[in-house]
Parts: sequence; C-alpha cells; structure tokens
Amino acid sequence: MQQLEFVPNELLVDKKFGIKDDDKVYVSPAVFQLITQAESDAELTKIIRHLDSITLNDTMIRASIHNLESILPFIGETERINLDNDSVRVTSLRLLCFKLHGIKCVKCGIEGKFFAKEKTKKDVSYHLNLYAVRENEEILMTKDHIVPKCKGGKENIENMQTMCCECNEEKGGK
Ligand SMILES: [Zn+2]
Repeated sequence: MQQLEFVPNELLVDKKFGIKDDDKVYVSPAVFQLITQAESDAELTKIIRHLDSITLNDTMIRASIHNLESILPFIGETERINLDNDSVRVTSLRLLCFKLHGIKCVKCGIEGKFFAKEKTKKDVSYHLNLYAVRENEEILMTKDHIVPKCKGGKENIENMQTMCCECNEEKGGK
C-alpha cells in the first residue's frame, strides 16, 4: 500500500502525477519526496518531465493519475484511448465491471477515487488501475467472481462484482 501525501501547490494541479481533491493534491510518496527536494520552479519542471521513470514500489511503475470522469465514459465504448501518448486498452472485463457495476466495493463500500496508468517492470504497455483512498492509503480496486471459478462460475460480466483488494483477499482466505 502506498501512503499518500498532500501537496498544497497550485503548480501540481492537473499535472500528470497529481489528482486534485478540493484544495489538495494527492501524490505518491516517491513523487512527494522529489517535489519537496526541488529548490526552484525550474527544477520542479524538470522533475515533472521525468516522472515516467518513478517507481512506486518494487514492481509497479506509475506514469500518471486520471480523474474518474476522464476514463469511465470511454470504457467499453472504444478499444483504446490515448493518455499522454500511451495507447491504453479500455475493454478489459475488470474495467467493464467498474463501469457497469459501479466503483464501490460490494463488501465494505469504499469507492474508487482515481485511475492510475501503471505497468509492472515486466509489462510492455501501461494499463489502468482503479484506486480508492482510506486513511491516506491507496487501496486497489478489483473485480470479484460472484460464483467462484472453482465452483463453475463463468468468466463473464454477469458473474463479476466490484470489490476492493482487501475484501477480496479476505474472501479468498475463507
Ligand atoms: Zn472492500
């Protein structure tokens, strides 16, 4: 889980690595550290340009953050969308589940807040992940099989519901 920091800096609003929520901008700790180290506006601009290479943790690389409204309308409507010169697929069952069944976890009720364009070190292309925020921690949202696959549940949208990763892990552990 990634801790989030608030950066009350107008410079960051609507830039690729921050999501505006009221008067705050959420950024990841890796980004926050770089921003607070910047000694001038010029240096900050330089950092902004190099954010693609920031690694959030051992496996995930985050390139940008996007508002729900800028992603949800495109899901299922088109094959791919262009996000900062990356072509990103918006037809996966996971994304369709968010669009058709909602962005709220069916178990705990937490709601997705933003999409992040991310890839693992092994991935060639970026994909979109939906995140909720709880007590300044990001929580990944996922799709859950209503009838588990091991019990004959189908891999289709009718058998999917939106769940956060924490509830999904709990369910899987039972
Ligand atoms: Zn949940």
